[in-house]
Amino acid sequence: MSPSLVTVSYIGATILFILSLGGLSNPETSRRGNVYGIIGMTIAVLATVFGPRVTLGGLPLIIGAMAIGGSVGLYAAKKVQMTQMPELVAAMHSLVGFAACVVGFASYIDTSIQFTGAEKTIHEMEIYIGILIGAVTFSGSVIAFGKLSGKINGKPLLLPARHWINLAGLLIVIYFGHQFLHAETTAAGTFPLIVMTIIALAFGVHMVMAIGGADMPVVVSMLNSYSGWAAAATGFMLSNDLLIVTGALVGSSGAILSYIMCRAMNRNFISVIAGGFGTGGGQAAKTGEQPAGEVVSVSAAETAELLREAKNVIIVPGYGMAVAQAQHTVYEITQHLRQKGINVRFGIHPVAGRMPGHMNVLLAEAKVPYDIVMEMDEINEDFPETDVAMVIGANDIVNPAAQEDPTSPIAGMPVLEVWKAKTSIVMKRSMASGYAGVDNPLFYKDNNRMLFGDAKKMLDEVLVALMT
Ligand code: NDP
Repeated sequence: MSPSLVTVSYIGATILFILSLGGLSNPETSRRGNVYGIIGMTIAVLATVFGPRVTLGGLPLIIGAMAIGGSVGLYAAKKVQMTQMPELVAAMHSLVGFAACVVGFASYIDTSIQFTGAEKTIHEMEIYIGILIGAVTFSGSVIAFGKLSGKINGKPLLLPARHWINLAGLLIVIYFGHQFLHAETTAAGTFPLIVMTIIALAFGVHMVMAIGGADMPVVVSMLNSYSGWAAAATGFMLSNDLLIVTGALVGSSGAILSYIMCRAMNRNFISVIAGGFGTGGGQAAKTGEQPAGEVVSVSAAETAELLREAKNVIIVPGYGMAVAQAQHTVYEITQHLRQKGINVRFGIHPVAGRMPGHMNVLLAEAKVPYDIVMEMDEINEDFPETDVAMVIGANDIVNPAAQEDPTSPIAGMPVLEVWKAKTSIVMKRSMASGYAGVDNPLFYKDNNRMLFGDAKKMLDEVLVALMT
């Protein structure tokens, strides 16, 4: 493939990536967005593999690597449960970071291309910054994977003087950056590069370990952004324009998403980067200590009765609906109630579930029409006029402690105010807390009812009771 054809392919792929991001911003166009992304990536890979920079001798190696990587990806994508998606995404981010580190070291020790003067300084800066971002992304994503999969405790680890530790790390990285750029030989430059990599890896671990349970979504989208910048840095090191543009697109869209999520969670964007945000003034999640009061449990038949008598119903789905795979039954109930003239809508919290847009994906899969799926801000003030708020496997996102208890780890986080409805019904298996490990005073409110059991099983029973 000639260089000009490669350039044209790269421009085409870039346009498709932009169209893809545009499509993904709305559930109705997201499928199309995905198709654009797939076509763009196919063009990008083909143009790179058959471009002038790959020699004939290198092709078998590349094809072999693609076959191994592709099989692992295919196997993981087929095997992973919907509830494990966030962990898979975190694992993917870690690979981008790892690749940036490996490419960085390889381009530093590669002597086939010799740079001199300003070009040499720029190339070495690309390597230093590329490895720095890659190492933070790698170790941060590994810890995020551990926290999301429950292998590492979700509680924030707050080291004393953690901001000073971060500052000291930054100063050491700057000092060794200076040493690296002024090293006479490759061997002399390798030591500062290794020291910086170790500090960057430690910073990634420290940053994500310091994040408390309910604040993890912001970190996941921030690591997504970092992985984009790591890819862009790899593009600079390899002088590949498409990788720079693609990385910048992922980096900036991830940063915008992080900012939107910070606003939704009422958290400070800057303090995310320093780690440990959302925990200042708060306490570590309490365990074992229950709010005073008694809970009132109801049966599926009583729930059906409450729904049948209602005029306005808001359904609030959460992580438990994803675990139980109850979205199809939820929609059957919705259709049944709407046929009876009951106004049923869905209230979606921006961090419901375990990944951004988790609930929207599940409801779209069950073919719930988009016009009855409302964002938190659109629906929150309608709860006082609502007869029944039905909470399906959600906990943290409907926890009034976020508003009522300034010492709560989730204090200040906006929540869906289901307790303002005439009756709220919480569907879950036990009194266990949610992801943030915080007790929920909603369960003890006078107008709240608990429907204990697996969401799918209980909703099936509610549907049968509604039909009879
Ligand atoms: P929560 O994790 O707060 O609560 C989910 C509840 O579902 C649990 O209390 C559990 O209770 C119940 N549950 C689990 N399985 C079932 C089942 N089979 N049937 C019925 N109920 C079930 O989820 P929310 O959606 O309310 O909140 C999301 C939380 O996750 C927030 O803290 C958010 O910050 C965090 N998070 C979100 C991410 C995102 O991007 N959206 C990413 C990472 C974290 P029980 O065991 O008693 O059944």
